Amino acid sequence: MRIWAVANQKGGVGKTTSTLTAGALLAARGKRVLLVDLDPHASLTAYLGHDPDAVAASVYDVLQSRIPLAEVSRPSMIENLWLLPASPALATLDRQFGTRQGGGIMLKRALASVRDDFDYVLMDCPPTLGILMINALAAGDFLLIPVQAEFLALKGLERMIRTLAMISRAREALPYLIVPTLYDKRTRASREALEFLQHHYSTQLWELVIPVDTQFRDASKLGLPLTAMNPQARGVLAFAALLDTVLAMEDEAAERASLMRVRYG
Ligand code: ADP
Ligand code: MG
Repeated sequence: MRIWAVANQKGGVGKTTSTLTAGALLAARGKRVLLVDLDPHASLTAYLGHDPDAVAASVYDVLQSRIPLAEVSRPSMIENLWLLPASPALATLDRQFGTRQGGGIMLKRALASVRDDFDYVLMDCPPTLGILMINALAAGDFLLIPVQAEFLALKGLERMIRTLAMISRAREALPYLIVPTLYDKRTRASREALEFLQHHYSTQLWELVIPVDTQFRDASKLGLPLTAMNPQARGVLAFAALLDTVLAMEDEAAERASLMRVRYG
């Protein structure tokens, strides 16, 4: 089971869209996928048709070790795609967990209990640095950082990179990829933001972009991933290319690790 976090310390950059679209694409390729909504705003949960104020149990109960993850996750209308829903109560976790020992690895532990049930777990993170973000970064094997191609959005990326540096003291390095989103090649703001990213983050930057595609909004109105509404939409094709990049990066990393084992036992 592979675990990916989708995070940026800024809202409106495409985190939820990336989580859902990448997850739905993996599901369409026959992988068993669990989406974890870690945002107290619960946009992903609402998107998939559940009222966050009315869900019987959520990831909140899982992080509190009250209900096993397998009992809280539920299938979506898409085959192979499951959801671990969020609820507004998540916003209170920081106060409750604050400094509790082990509070940062609750999710990692809970996910270990379903490691044979899913091929991929994708976690949609809140835009704030707190116990939920810490849990996601502790549990993840890979991090996707969607960045809106717009100058103001680059601040969120800076904060995210600082958080990563902090986290890397507590765990082995978390490989990550910066993904320019909402890219509109006709606007100077988009082009300039991309140039900035290429200049300052070149080694960690995906070589392509997720373009603005108004069909994402249409799909959200239907409560469907865009992959199910129009698999040929340019936004979907861009995410399919992103997926290929991430899967190739993971394969390379696995190959390196097995070479190391052969060499050093
Ligand atoms: P976040 O989770 O980071 O807050 P969302 O994924 O919810 O961001 O995206 C914010 C808004 O932008 C949503 O209304 C979403 O439908 C829209 N959106 C996201 N990505 C795209 C895109 N590539 N093209 C057009 N609209 C998009
Ligand atoms: Mg979101």
